[in-house]
Amino acid sequence: MGLSSTSLILDHVTLAHALPPVPRPAGLFSFIAERLWLDYVNTDDVRRGTRMDFLRDFESLLRWMEVSGIFDEERAQQMRRRAQQQPSGAAAAVVDARRVRSALRALAERGASSEIVRNDALGEINRVLGRSAVTRRLEWRTDGSFSPAFVPVGDAFAGLMIPIVESAAEALIKGELGRVRRCGDPRCPRVFYDSTRNGRRRWCDMSTCGNRAKAARFRAKEGQR
Ligand SMILES: [Zn+2]
Repeated sequence: MGLSSTSLILDHVTLAHALPPVPRPAGLFSFIAERLWLDYVNTDDVRRGTRMDFLRDFESLLRWMEVSGIFDEERAQQMRRRAQQQPSGAAAAVVDARRVRSALRALAERGASSEIVRNDALGEINRVLGRSAVTRRLEWRTDGSFSPAFVPVGDAFAGLMIPIVESAAEALIKGELGRVRRCGDPRCPRVFYDSTRNGRRRWCDMSTCGNRAKAARFRAKEGQR
């Protein structure tokens, strides 16, 4: 735990400082999963004895979408204003975001082995894709490069989950579920995509769970002497 988890916290604090000063949810965002939909699943982190749900309200959902790069600052501000105008719509969007997330967690953890789970996830993905509209744009970045942008049209809240379910859809299309793993530490709920050549990634993060396991092995070895 000790040092390694401290360094993780510092990384996230640094990240948070680089962002504009708006009220941010307590807790940490982690981007270790190598796939957007899996990073999103990991927002329901349940470690350290207390359930830490990073999606506590619309603002925290928006923050996650900003930090993950789905929204740029300007669009996040637009959404923020819209949420102020339509608080009930924003609250419903959070409920929906959690619903999508639990379907995707099931897909991440059991999708490879269960056709029922895959089918449920398919229903959820199509529910989101079917009821919302989005347009895509190509935009200049300030450094002169290009980036694809995602602009919800119509009911803006309805389109929020599109990039996330599209990421999950891509995993199904590419047949990636067999490489989706849960962290090797049974106390850690994080999931990730294993992109290693030999398919042996075991830990969500070497600096936390991986390090803890290494230290435990070391202690066990010392004990044998
Ligand atoms: Zn872990």
